[in-house]
Amino acid sequence: MSPSTPGKHIAVIGAGIIGVCSALSLQREGFRVTLIDQGEPGEGASFGNGAVIGDEAVVPVATPGVLWRVPGMLADPLGPLAIRWSYLPRLTPWLLRFVAASGARRVEEISIALGGLMDGALAAYTPLLAQADAKDMIRRTGWVCVYESEAGFRRYQPMLELQRRRGVALEVLEPEALRQLEPSLAPIFTQAVLYPEVGHSVNSFRMVQVLAGAFQSNGGALHRAAVRGFDTGPEGPRAVQTEAGPLPCDGVVVAAGAWSKPLAADLGAPVPLETERGYHVQFPEPGIAPRLPVYSTERAFVATPLEVGLRCAGTVELGGLQAPPNWARAEALARHARRWFPNLQTEGATRWMGFRPSMPDSLPVIGRSPRFPNVFLAFGHGHSGMILGARTGALVAALAADRDPGLDMTPYRADRF
Ligand SMILES: Cc1cc2nc3c(=O)[nH]c(=O)nc-3n(C[C@H](O)[C@H](O)[C@H](O)COP(=O)(O)OP(=O)(O)OC[C@H]3O[C@@H](n4cnc5c(N)ncnc54)[C@H](O)[C@@H]3O)c2cc1C
Repeated sequence: MSPSTPGKHIAVIGAGIIGVCSALSLQREGFRVTLIDQGEPGEGASFGNGAVIGDEAVVPVATPGVLWRVPGMLADPLGPLAIRWSYLPRLTPWLLRFVAASGARRVEEISIALGGLMDGALAAYTPLLAQADAKDMIRRTGWVCVYESEAGFRRYQPMLELQRRRGVALEVLEPEALRQLEPSLAPIFTQAVLYPEVGHSVNSFRMVQVLAGAFQSNGGALHRAAVRGFDTGPEGPRAVQTEAGPLPCDGVVVAAGAWSKPLAADLGAPVPLETERGYHVQFPEPGIAPRLPVYSTERAFVATPLEVGLRCAGTVELGGLQAPPNWARAEALARHARRWFPNLQTEGATRWMGFRPSMPDSLPVIGRSPRFPNVFLAFGHGHSGMILGARTGALVAALAADRDPGLDMTPYRADRF
């Protein structure tokens, strides 16, 4: 496919932040686009995430020493990073790759590859939000990472160094500076790090919806159906098979988040995709108004002020796509939130669980299928899908139009394992 073939029809599977941004960018490139989802846009992982959109996310999940933390992950079902025993046999191949990605040299390489994606990620939203007349969806307040113990802050030093090597803007704060920055916090933190250039969405779900609305207003088709497979010829897929019948197309983008694995395998790209389940608890009338998101690496969650209340979102549970939620994990988040914010009003709190689409090396898959040139893969964004939605969409559109994406795409290839 190339710019000399505008009007070619591309089917984008998945209307989360990645699929919607890809659809909009492909449309802006001159393609005819159909966005397919089994539900409404934004109802997957993009619905309830921490909504943080920044450039500091250059630290992978697996860092040196993670192997020694695995027994603890199995022992504590409420811990920030937990593994469900019953899922361990199915998880093991992914877990071995996860541990293999945690060596110091590999972490440095992964961090450089993450940095390549983060570069310009926030700015990539500007044209899309301008088209949607929704520039106020992102607020650039910075975010602050807080530490409850000196030991926790010390443990994080190598990661701070990694961020510094990637050129991330950050400032270490003493407790008094933190108190002045965010007076709604209890005086229980020993250190903090401010990342002044980070932004956040005022509502991750509404942001996906307004971008999907802009796509439709510009002539894009939204097709509500589950994708079952493909009608594939020697040159690649000719139609997407949905539960509502076949949808003929010239090309396909797989952006189905944590559910992308079987679709990618059908299209010549078997990948070790897993899900890192995460939880949120949201306080609709919090009675406090933090001016920026507050994050804890020790607890692995963020408290983000949204237009719909204060949302505490995060933690990781490796337990697959089928097991029911463990709501005690959301309650643990609520307990921490009450400790952090003494004046927090908790009436009417709601809870949610979502499925991060996660590769063992914390790098997404972005690129062509190794088998079919008319198939583009855009999933596996793990903890950073909100950050990377617009950036990924722009890369996918450039590849589909046979333009130079301006970035070496080798680290994000599906066949890198
Ligand atoms: C608790 C939590 C906190 C997070 N915090 C942040 C954060 O602060 N910042 C950040 O950048 N990221 C964060 N993330 C990660 C972020 O939410 C994800 O990386 C991102 O939402 C993934 O987007 P996606 O479009 O790939 O997937 P999704 O949003 O899950 O979208 C996939 C879509 O594909 C559809 N689909 C799947 N299979 C099919 C099929 N067969 N047929 C049709 N449709 C299908 C689904 O219905 C769904 O709508 C967080 C995640 C969690 C869980």
